[in-house]
Amino acid sequence: MYRSSSVVGDTGWIEVICGSMFSGKTEELIRRLVRARIAKQQVQAFKPSLDDRFAKDHVVSHNGQRIPSTEVGKAEDILRLVQDRTKVVAIDEAQFLGMGLVDVVEKLANQGRRVIVAGLDQDYRGIPFEPVPQLMAISESVTKTMAVCVVCGQPANRTQRLVEAEARVLVGTSDAYEARCRACWTPDPHQVSPGERTSAGAGVG
Ligand code: ADP
Ligand code: MG
Ligand code: ZN
Repeated sequence: MYRSSSVVGDTGWIEVICGSMFSGKTEELIRRLVRARIAKQQVQAFKPSLDDRFAKDHVVSHNGQRIPSTEVGKAEDILRLVQDRTKVVAIDEAQFLGMGLVDVVEKLANQGRRVIVAGLDQDYRGIPFEPVPQLMAISESVTKTMAVCVVCGQPANRTQRLVEAEARVLVGTSDAYEARCRACWTPDPHQVSPGERTSAGAGVG
């Protein structure tokens, strides 16, 4: 059981960091965790085991920043793994943990913890990617991060899939996806002009 005495006198809350791929969600998550550690708060980070792009035991940003983390197969595992004294709980790649994450995050916040959740707000077709929209609704704070459109250089809030695949989840890095603005993005990878397309399939897990 979580003891409220291990929290320094305040109520919990939920912060959401969301945007497209390459928009700096993980960077921002790490920035907040580093500051919490400077404040001598106990921090724990979790990420879904599905995301094994860079490291199993670290949350890693595209520009190489990292922070130790624990892999979870499903959202409920976080409740089992979180320690009593943990004040700040960070969860990256929330879109891979499903709707069960909403209850888990709510419980953690009700226990008096600060919960920071990062994830994609839209899938590659531009459709809201649960559970991130639901988490945005119940959170105290939402930060929308934007990338740079690789086609025109404007702020980008969409993730362009570059390879032809129907699956909603296709874990990959810069070979499978790129950041694009509303004008340069298309929901259909077939329409990406061949000159723009990188080597299909490379680096896709
Ligand atoms: P996210 O977690 O949102 O995918 P990261 O925090 O891992 O993003 O990475 C953000 C970093 O990615 C940026 O600081 C930058 O160095 C790099 N980057 C690569 N491509 C882009 C892009 N198109 N727009 C913005 N940043 C990019
Ligand atoms: Mg990330
Ligand atoms: Zn653009």
